[in-house]
Amino acid sequence: MSNPKGATVIVVGGGVSGLSAAWWLARSGVDVLVLDKGIVGWEASGRNGGGASHYQSPLFAEEQRLWPLMDEMLGYTTEYQRGKIVLATTEGQLKHYKYVAQMFTEQGSPSHEIDRQEIRERVPMSGDNILGGVHLTIAGQANPQRTVQGYAWAIQDLGGRILQHTPVLRLVSEGGKVVGVETRDGILNCDSVVVAAGPQSASLLAGIGIDLPIAAARAEMIVTEPAPMMAIGAVDGNGLYGRQTKRGNLAYGGGPHEWLDVGPSGPSARPGSPLIRNLTKRLYGLFAKAPSLRVIRSWAGVIENTPDGRPVIDRIDNVTFVTMSSVGFGLSPASGHAVRDLVMDGKCSFADLEKLSLKRFDGLDKDWREQKGWVSRSETL
Ligand SMILES: Cc1cc2nc3c(=O)[nH]c(=O)nc-3n(C[C@H](O)[C@H](O)[C@H](O)COP(=O)(O)OP(=O)(O)OC[C@H]3O[C@@H](n4cnc5c(N)ncnc54)[C@H](O)[C@@H]3O)c2cc1C
Repeated sequence: MSNPKGATVIVVGGGVSGLSAAWWLARSGVDVLVLDKGIVGWEASGRNGGGASHYQSPLFAEEQRLWPLMDEMLGYTTEYQRGKIVLATTEGQLKHYKYVAQMFTEQGSPSHEIDRQEIRERVPMSGDNILGGVHLTIAGQANPQRTVQGYAWAIQDLGGRILQHTPVLRLVSEGGKVVGVETRDGILNCDSVVVAAGPQSASLLAGIGIDLPIAAARAEMIVTEPAPMMAIGAVDGNGLYGRQTKRGNLAYGGGPHEWLDVGPSGPSARPGSPLIRNLTKRLYGLFAKAPSLRVIRSWAGVIENTPDGRPVIDRIDNVTFVTMSSVGFGLSPASGHAVRDLVMDGKCSFADLEKLSLKRFDGLDKDWREQKGWVSRSETL
């Protein structure tokens, strides 16, 4: 059964990667349809720390250019804030954070070490256990739920369509090209497809002979009762990332992660592992002078990791695919722009995507996950 009510471009996956790509395509006047098996942003995209500072990425400059413009471009707030302080409780952390500040500076974003007095003034909840810290002047963070909502509304404002609760069962190809996607209601036709299905991109792409090496891991976050408002909303450190919400809650996450096997219906990570106790302990290490705050919420999300930890953004024939390897929220304004360029022009107009190409994994051993130890120790979820 073929349903001609597809679209010129079908985007599989309504996380930030798929939504941003669809938004950029809709901005260019393309007839675009996003399909999500659940609701938009329900997986990693609505559950992350909101960090937007990926200095190691070829998309960094575009990430930093776009975020301050996003509220105006989307027409909706993302609660983006610029500037971040990162605090260390060990010499090892301090060394690493100083290196990060140096990398930011080398890329044109002056960042510097701050002394204990400045730390006490800017982060009054930090305690005497803090050895030092850095101020990353342009690193930023936004509210993931608001951002997902903003992308989704902006796509629809531009005439794009979003169908939720519509799993794509397979990509349908004819004569070597994808001509549509199969859903429970039949086949939706398209001229080209964007696969942005998070951990499930691998199985969808495998169906048309594309091998995308990713390993899924559970990451967790905790949220506390509101704390006194800090002048700077983004204070990372002690191995944690996160933000203070507009209401004052501290929303934080951080490794270690737990490796997962992803079953046919996708991941269903649940919180409640020992990671939560570990996160809570480290949060009180970061803010030792915070008043007693209860952890009021926690959740888990699944991130997909490539063997070298960098995203894959690539195109083969009329199939463009994007998998963000744990840095997809912050990079989403830029990744969507890159996907739009690949779909419409065949190449990215603002960055060299060579480092993000799939071909860098040519010749990868089949058992690369086992070799890295990135395997689940539990049952398939
Ligand atoms: C706890 C946590 C903290 C994080 N912190 C940060 C951070 O601070 N900064 C940062 O940049 N990144 C962070 N990340 C990573 C970031 O959230 C992800 O890289 C990003 O959200 C990936 O977005 P995505 O759209 O590619 O994938 P996803 O968000 O996984 O979205 C994929 C979508 O595809 C849909 N889908 C799957 N299969 C199908 C199918 N067959 N048919 C239709 N739809 C399908 C799913 O329902 C889902 O909505 C964090 C992640 C977690 C879990």
